[in-house]
Amino acid sequence: MLVEKGKTFIGKFNKDDDLLLALNAFCGSKNIKTGVFSIIGAVQKASVGYYDQDKKVYTNNIELNKKMEIVSCQGNISLKDGKICVHAHISLSDEAGKCFGGHLIPGTVIWAAEYYIQELRGSELNRKYDSETGLSLWREE
Ligand code: ZN
Repeated sequence: MLVEKGKTFIGKFNKDDDLLLALNAFCGSKNIKTGVFSIIGAVQKASVGYYDQDKKVYTNNIELNKKMEIVSCQGNISLKDGKICVHAHISLSDEAGKCFGGHLIPGTVIWAAEYYIQELRGSELNRKYDSETGLSLWREE
């Protein structure tokens, strides 16, 4: 589907806030219904999910209780059941440069987080349950 660039935001989230909740709150406050984003910075600890494709459930909430760099955190914003839905994946590195990552879930505590958020405008992008994957995927109406 065709979209056009809307507003562009750049800034930082607050230390000690939850990364995913801060991102959700920001998108809600700016009414960003469609968009993409990129975040770098550092976290005090992180929580990521892993989706088991055979069982079709998020089987693991991986708790990473260490201070790490946000190597990359990217994702998109769309609608699910009429509400703003932020989908983010994150890569994190430790003091040895080892990387961890996954589907961002609540429990990731910000040390510093610099965001770039691009709102997109056009048709709505809606998530609907997809029985083949067990995920809520985009469906064009
Ligand atoms: Zn995901």
